Amino acid sequence: MLNGKAAIVTGSTSGIGLAIATAFAAHGADVMLNGFGDANAIETARVQLEREHGVRVRYNPADMGVPQDVRRMAQQAIDAFGKVDIVVNNAGIQHVAPIDEQPDDRWDAVIAINLSSAFHLVKAVLPGMKARGWGRVINVASAHGLVASPFKAPYVAAKHGLIGLSKTVAVEVAEHGITSNTICPGYVKTPLVEGQIAEQAKAHGIPAENVIRDVLLVHQARKRFVTVEEIAALALFLASDAAASITAAALAVDGGWTQH
Ligand code: NAD
Repeated sequence: MLNGKAAIVTGSTSGIGLAIATAFAAHGADVMLNGFGDANAIETARVQLEREHGVRVRYNPADMGVPQDVRRMAQQAIDAFGKVDIVVNNAGIQHVAPIDEQPDDRWDAVIAINLSSAFHLVKAVLPGMKARGWGRVINVASAHGLVASPFKAPYVAAKHGLIGLSKTVAVEVAEHGITSNTICPGYVKTPLVEGQIAEQAKAHGIPAENVIRDVLLVHQARKRFVTVEEIAALALFLASDAAASITAAALAVDGGWTQH
């Protein structure tokens, strides 16, 4: 489905990003991995993807909070693959606190990593996409790109902003064969959320099952976590030619949360 295409997936050493990178490689795309983690584990995953799927897989440790790193990673992908056809802006962090207790540096970091990095990456790869007349920008926002929850001001602001950026990219470059869309997952059980379950269980003095049912999935009508494979399947479809007319969309994959 993606034979001959080259992709960058930010935050792909774990969770949703890793599942998207795996799906892309399995369908023939060369992939630039990015994110933090144990160097040996990342190298093992990189080599495994190359061997299993016969594609080129590279890794760049760019900090998505540092614009120069983002630009350097884009250039490395262009040098390695000759081009970048698909970018997935997935790297993200979260900081939960009431607004009047949100540390300034956490606000800045969440906005930089979850939102500004997408601007810098898209800016770096768009000229090549325009020249080739084909491109895919896929942003991973959140149900929190569509609705708010208390104590998540920087995250909710960044994810709403990411949808706005995606729509603007979409209408600006639609005639160049480039689409830009945003996936808005509900709760997905990844290391990011496992951390939140443990923290909330401790904070409220309740078992993890109660945190899952009564806190995290309270609005998620399906009452189960979204899976990383479900998100990756949508990303793969958005990257395909079949999705050429889907652009500027914010697609909820949230078990009914944002319509509840
Ligand atoms: P995760 O913690 O498993 O993965 C996050 C990835 O981002 C990791 O690879 C990590 O190394 C990378 N990362 C973090 N900071 C980075 C930085 N400064 N520079 C480069 N990489 C960085 O989390 P996940 O749940 O897979 O989340 C992926 C995306 O999906 C995030 O944008 C998150 O907001 C979004 N999301 C997650 C859920 C969920 O329930 N898990 C729900 C909605 C949206």
